[in-house]
Amino acid sequence: MTTDIVSDSSVTTGHLSRELASVGGVDAWEASVAYARARSASFDQWFAGVQFDGLIDGVLSLRARDEFVRQWVHDHFMPTMTDQIRQATGWSVQVAWSVGGQLERPVSVHAPTPERELMPAPTRTRAPESVRLQAVAPPLEGLNAKYTFSNFVIGPSNQLAYAASMAAAGGMGPRHNPLFLCGGTGLGKTHLVHAVAHRVREERPGARIVYISAEKFINEFVQALQDQKMSEFRARYRERCDLLLVDDIQFLASKTQTQEEFFHAFNALHQADRQIILTSDKYPQQLERMEERLVSRFASGLVADIQPPELETRVAIVRKKAQLEKIDIADEVVLTIAQSVRSNVRELEGTLVRLTAKSSLLGRPITIEFARQEILAASSARPTESSVEDIQRIVCHHFKLRSTDLLSKDRHKSIAFARHVAMYLCKQRLKCSFPELGRAFGNRDHTTVMSAVRKVEGLRTADPEVRAHLEAIERKLGAAD
Ligand code: ADP
Ligand code: MG
Repeated sequence: MTTDIVSDSSVTTGHLSRELASVGGVDAWEASVAYARARSASFDQWFAGVQFDGLIDGVLSLRARDEFVRQWVHDHFMPTMTDQIRQATGWSVQVAWSVGGQLERPVSVHAPTPERELMPAPTRTRAPESVRLQAVAPPLEGLNAKYTFSNFVIGPSNQLAYAASMAAAGGMGPRHNPLFLCGGTGLGKTHLVHAVAHRVREERPGARIVYISAEKFINEFVQALQDQKMSEFRARYRERCDLLLVDDIQFLASKTQTQEEFFHAFNALHQADRQIILTSDKYPQQLERMEERLVSRFASGLVADIQPPELETRVAIVRKKAQLEKIDIADEVVLTIAQSVRSNVRELEGTLVRLTAKSSLLGRPITIEFARQEILAASSARPTESSVEDIQRIVCHHFKLRSTDLLSKDRHKSIAFARHVAMYLCKQRLKCSFPELGRAFGNRDHTTVMSAVRKVEGLRTADPEVRAHLEAIERKLGAAD
């Protein structure tokens, strides 16, 4: 454990006895807590990782769970809080931080950190409730009610994205605009933007929040053009919006006209200092076929990435999910699940839900043995991972085409058919979205892929020849994996 004095104001004391000062110190500290808590939605999140060890002769002793918490609390809360203490006591205040070690009496006891899940029951009751707006706003379309900050488990892999989202929702700390959340699929990006929307809705019921996926934005734009309702569309995104949340912005790739429209909406909101949060599966600079002026704007605020969670966080996530779904599950089983699924929280949750469903259907308790068998069975049943390129290669080989034929604009019947088959197989076997597949097939529109997939699905049942082709290719794909 390390201790260090990080505030540079000088100590001016000596006029009060040590004992008196320490009593007054506790009161002044409590008052500063009440003051900061009433002004920050994220106070309890941060102060679950902070312990008050005393305020004597102007020296405020605090302990932080880790360096990240210390830095954040020091930078974002201490200036106001020490100022409050100074006004109440007349002292100039120094903050003496310790970092690490067990926190027995965290200032806040109900924040949803993974550590808290593992901590012994709190020994101190919570300080008085903050003064919060209690007005209830109607639910917002497209939001998952469970995707809240309190249901989000924080760990090293996502703490920056979490803290930045909290700040964007009006918590303490610098607000970055835009906030760009990026990371692989199933790592909590959508969860965090929904959490921001819920929080803002709670605290500022009048705020005009627009949450939309980029795919839907494209569709709405095209529809507005067709219906000649562009002024309405523009008003919605440029004027009647205090908080814009756009999920999966990578889908704007190669949509030049929509990008142009989004660019103007972005600028209008940004200039009016309205918060914009974007999510993406890639960093801004990695977005392909996205206009440079958009890429540079995306990166101009804060880019916060989310990495796959480490084991401790995965354990805490499974616990949290079990608690939310009221699933009774032993610690060893939680650990087994967390060890078996590493890179995607959605799959982690899926494994827990599947196990629970199976256990209740079969009337078997979820023992560790049962869990292991199921995890093993699920992983071998999962379609083996091949890539779009593998499928394209094997389809070309089967139909004796060149690999470039599938990506070309050639509409010759046999080439178009092979292309449709390849699209269908990719959709069946890979976790790719329609727009992703469109891009992988010579930059075609996602609706082209959708209709190709539907067509081959139909032919598979109706036409024995098509069925035979598909089965032959699937055998080759199976052998290639
Ligand atoms: P993404 O948008 O990044 O693909 P989602 O936000 O849809 O991922 O998350 C997938 C699932 O995993 C959701 O059910 C979400 O609640 C859950 N999840 C992801 N990260 C966390 C976390 N840190 N704590 C709790 N649940 C999480
Ligand atoms: Mg998402």
